[in-house]
Formats: sequence, structure tokens, C-alpha cells
Amino acid sequence: MAGEATYRGRFAPSPTGPLHFGSLVAAVGSYLDARAQGGEWLVRMEDVDTPRNVPGAADGILATLEAYGFEWDGPVLWQSTRFAAYAEALQRLIDGGLAYGCACSRKEIADSGSHPAIDGGLAYPGTCRNGLPAGRVARAWRLRVNDEALAFVDRLQGTVTQHLQSDVGDFVLRRADGLFAYQLAVAVDDEFQAISDVVRGADLLASTPRQIWLQRCLGYATPRYAHLPVASNAAGEKLSKQTLAPALTPGQAGPTLVRALAFLGQTVPAELAQAPLAEIWAWAHAHWDFAAMPRRKSIPLATLP
Ligand code: GLU
Repeated sequence: MAGEATYRGRFAPSPTGPLHFGSLVAAVGSYLDARAQGGEWLVRMEDVDTPRNVPGAADGILATLEAYGFEWDGPVLWQSTRFAAYAEALQRLIDGGLAYGCACSRKEIADSGSHPAIDGGLAYPGTCRNGLPAGRVARAWRLRVNDEALAFVDRLQGTVTQHLQSDVGDFVLRRADGLFAYQLAVAVDDEFQAISDVVRGADLLASTPRQIWLQRCLGYATPRYAHLPVASNAAGEKLSKQTLAPALTPGQAGPTLVRALAFLGQTVPAELAQAPLAEIWAWAHAHWDFAAMPRRKSIPLATLP
């Protein structure tokens, strides 16, 4: 029917290591939200940061998703095949005067009295925004931002507001090593795949205003966002390869899936942990309750039953 809203969600892992409980939670949340709304669910392999890719990790992630019973729509989109699209988007921003070449090294930015950015690193002080200093060449490409309030309403975390200029500064679209930045790749691909709903971990909440700004600069639609609580260890660190989160074991799929559902606030019957995987998914699809999800940014795993 013309005008009917189409739900399209996605799960976009980076192949920097095996799937762990934290990434499973994001996959489960986005998958069930998509299916509950009769939507499609796509998988995108975010292998754009090639030096960080771990050989075999992408295939391992896809095999684990299959072993856990996820069924995605269409072929996997590999960001490593999308360089031409990112280059075209960057060129459009440069041609429009929205992106510019930057000669600054990390050390020069650190020495220029810049203040910390909202999610680590340093806010770019704008050294090259009015042209490269004499005799310098562009190493990276940055997007111009302004300091107006940029706000969006997250379905779980409520209203999020940033002032991009003071919170992050003009940010990198193409790095000095020639690689395209995650922020650009994700904006281009969410548009390319016509994603209506981004459901992902709250560790990416602070990136979202940059992505919305990029969408506006490129004339893209802005999806709805829901940022799920991330699983943290007892020290409050997000589960990741760096914090040595254990890889998921396919043999434990049922009980681990049940733990992920419980983590997302679903009231799972205790006996379901021993049920066949298909039965757990049938229960999850029938009982998925978005409103029951905790509206928190992180939850230590030790607090789980
Ligand atoms: N590839 C990103 C990650 O694994 C997720 C990006 C996203 O969902 O937008 O952290």
C-alpha cells in the first residue's frame, strides 16, 4: 500500500573478533524489534577498518549467527566492497564546501590546546577549516560542524542533545591512512540499505549526532534509533575483545539466548533455557516486549539472575 511505513533493521558487527555476549544482545534486540514490526532484518559486515579486521572473524560471526538461529534477509553487505560509494559521498561533501582537507597530525591537535571530545580523543580545534596552512598538504578529510544543539529522541534513552562543535569538532571522514571513517561508512550504508530503524548498543549513542549531521549534509533520511543497554563487566567496562569477553559457544546457544533475552528485560520462563532453540525463538517472537527493556546505557553482567 502506498505510503505504508516499511521497517528495515540491521545488525552491523565489526569483524575484529568473535561474537560475544554483548554483540549477541544487540543482534537479539534489533532482530526481535524488526520481526515484531513485520520488518526486514539485514546483516552488514563493517570491515571498513581493514587493519583491525581479524582473519576469519567475519565468517566466524556469520556462522555463530546461523548457529544461534538468526535468519537475515538478503545477502550480507560487506563494507570492504563499498569504497566507491564512500568516495562518492565524500567528494559530494567536498564539492559542496562541507568537507575539507586537514594537515594536522595527532600531536599537533594535542599541542593546540584542544579539549577532550565527548567519547574519547580530542575535539578538533578547527585549525584547517579555513584552508591549509602554507606549505602543508591534506592528510585527512573532515566534515564541518556547527555548534547549534543537535537533538534526537531515542526510543529507549530519550532525548539526546549534542553541540557538535564543542563536543567533537569537525570530524574525520577519511583518515590519514586513506581509510574511510566508520561515521561516513555507516551513514552511507544505512541510507543505501534504506534502514528505517537502528537498534544497537548504547556505546554508539554518542556517535549518533555525528551520523544524523552527515545524513543532513548528504540529503539522506534519518532513521529511528533505539540504543540498548550494553553488557559490562564488574568493573563497568563494556564487554569487548579488549576486556576479554569470552566468545560465544554454539553448543550453549539456547541458554545463552535466554540470558540475552533476560538481559533485555524479557520475562523468560525458567524452563525455556533447556528448550530447543526453535522453541526459544518462537517464545521470543510471540512475547517480545520492547517496553520492558531497561532504559539504561549499561548493565553489569553480575547483576543478572
Ligand atoms: N560496527 C559497529 C560495532 O560493531 C556497529 C555499528 C552500528 O551498529 O552502527 O560496534
